[in-house]
Amino acid sequence: MHELGIVYEVIKIVDNFAKENNVEKVEKIVLEIGQLSQAIPRYIEDCYPAAVTETPYEQTKLEIIILPANGKCNLCKEVYNIIDNRKICPNCEGEDFTLISGKEFRIKEIAGY
Ligand SMILES: [Zn+2]
Repeated sequence: MHELGIVYEVIKIVDNFAKENNVEKVEKIVLEIGQLSQAIPRYIEDCYPAAVTETPYEQTKLEIIILPANGKCNLCKEVYNIIDNRKICPNCEGEDFTLISGKEFRIKEIAGY
């Protein structure tokens, strides 16, 4: 499970951010994870408590926003969720699409004081 490593990476980035910005207490970390990201949100949530135990982030909430795996049909320009539609365009049934979102993994927000 590489999600634990990802969570440690996130904590490290948050830690650096907090120090640079004199944030004493980080209340919330918001992550944006695409449906096609290598990181599985459920696993991230599962290993987060273990990763922050006995750190300054023990009370910090983790929020995950899941971004859809959207593709744009190269034939009719329809934008659709390629997972929900099994990669087949719901408008013209074409299978030729360009991925426009879904592989993201980023820290959207670090809230604290
Ligand atoms: Zn189409």
